[in-house]
Amino acid sequence: MIFNSIRWRLQAWHGVILAAVLTGFGVAAYKVAHDNQMRSIDQDLGQQLDGLFRPRPPEARPPDDRPPRGDRGRPFPFESSEFETNLRQAVSEFGAAGGPYLVLWRMNQGAIARSPGAPPEVPEPKEALAQAPPEVGPGQRGFRPGPRGPVLARTRGQFREISIPLPRGFVVVAGRSIADDQAAMQRLALLLLAAGAGIFLLGLAGGGWVAARAIRPIEDISATAQRISAGDLSQRIDVADTESELGRLAGVLNATFARLEASFTQQARFTADASHELRTPVTVILTQTQTCLARERGSAEYKETLQACQRAAQRMRRLTESLLELARIDAGEEPMRRERFDLGRVARESAELIQPLAEQRKVLIQTDLALAECAGDAEHIGQVVTNLLSNAIHYNRESGAVNVAARTEGEWGILRVSDSGSGIAAEDQPHIFERFYRADKSRARAEGRTGLGLAICKAIVDAHGGSIELESKPGVGSTFTVRLPLAHG
Ligand code: ADP
Repeated sequence: MIFNSIRWRLQAWHGVILAAVLTGFGVAAYKVAHDNQMRSIDQDLGQQLDGLFRPRPPEARPPDDRPPRGDRGRPFPFESSEFETNLRQAVSEFGAAGGPYLVLWRMNQGAIARSPGAPPEVPEPKEALAQAPPEVGPGQRGFRPGPRGPVLARTRGQFREISIPLPRGFVVVAGRSIADDQAAMQRLALLLLAAGAGIFLLGLAGGGWVAARAIRPIEDISATAQRISAGDLSQRIDVADTESELGRLAGVLNATFARLEASFTQQARFTADASHELRTPVTVILTQTQTCLARERGSAEYKETLQACQRAAQRMRRLTESLLELARIDAGEEPMRRERFDLGRVARESAELIQPLAEQRKVLIQTDLALAECAGDAEHIGQVVTNLLSNAIHYNRESGAVNVAARTEGEWGILRVSDSGSGIAAEDQPHIFERFYRADKSRARAEGRTGLGLAICKAIVDAHGGSIELESKPGVGSTFTVRLPLAHG
């Protein structure tokens, strides 16, 4: 499902958050603008009343301004005994039709005066009437001229009205049409809506772009992984931005894919090499037996054939045993003991074991063995030393020499096997520990060498947490150095 994808989920969350923020912002902006507008209308209406009840000094008025009633030499209406008459007159003469209007109410008497522009259906300002000071007149305690008490505002359809409680139970309602203001507010709402929708779409598009960019490396990774799972191990993720989190992940995955490829290639080559190695002795046995059985033979010929078959079978046994041993070490199934043993003693025993072969080849084995107490499996390390000595003798020259030395160096037990043999060419040296690798292929195979000896040595030494290295000069000789961890305490 497309909507299950991370990209769409990101997009949906982004959309929801953006819509919520824009709606909140839009509603708040509209409310602030609306409240400001109403407040300014209310102030405007309040000023109209101020002008009505509080006369300004003549010099502050423009010459064409009609003086309010209280200014025409008469006392301010509230202070006069003709309080009600003056108030009624001021209200009935206020403004003109279509403009701001006034309606005068008195407690229990209803609307007692209205200006010419006042609409007929202005409802009773109950709340203001309830707050209008009772019969407090001029000269009495608590009397203050002018509008008093809280200004109560209301919006009634197209009209905005404020009610002002006056002394003696009077309430003046001042109002005006706000049709134009409402239309302006509507335009503002539409503008906010359009701007919000625009920003929302822009935000969605931007968010979609960002999400697509952020997700692209994941898509690349999954596409590459799919191609790899389909069998193409050479595929790698194209890492453009190596510093980002996904770039680093892609880097790690690429390294893993490279190791996987190397291991698969090695595995495939190993299987091919193993089959090839086993096919040779099998072919020998088949050819020998077929030729021999083609007709009657003498006992000497049968014996010769059987001996050839035996040699081929022995070769197969050596090979299968080596293969099995390698497979077991690889799988961690070859038990490696962790005991204290003297590397010097193990080297001496191996040298003694291999002595007959050395004599046969007229090679002199020299030893320089000090005490080096290592931790590990003495039997397997003995196998390593024997393999190295066997190679040193085998690849040596006539009447050559082999030197075996053991000693400690820091935290390590060191074993060195040097020979005065043919040496190993520089181009072969990096591959010498690979399985089935032979520097001189035809010769080594003809001599029945498996090409697994050094690979087994390396596997055993690695399993001990040690290392094996080669130094060789063609024509001068080779030195193999084995490092093993010393036993502690
Ligand atoms: P092999 O059974 O062929 O000896 P190894 O794994 O023991 O297999 O050795 C791999 C190859 O390394 C050999 O075929 C040989 O060419 C080369 N090699 C090993 N040891 C020596 C040595 N001491 N001197 C020269 N070449 C050597």
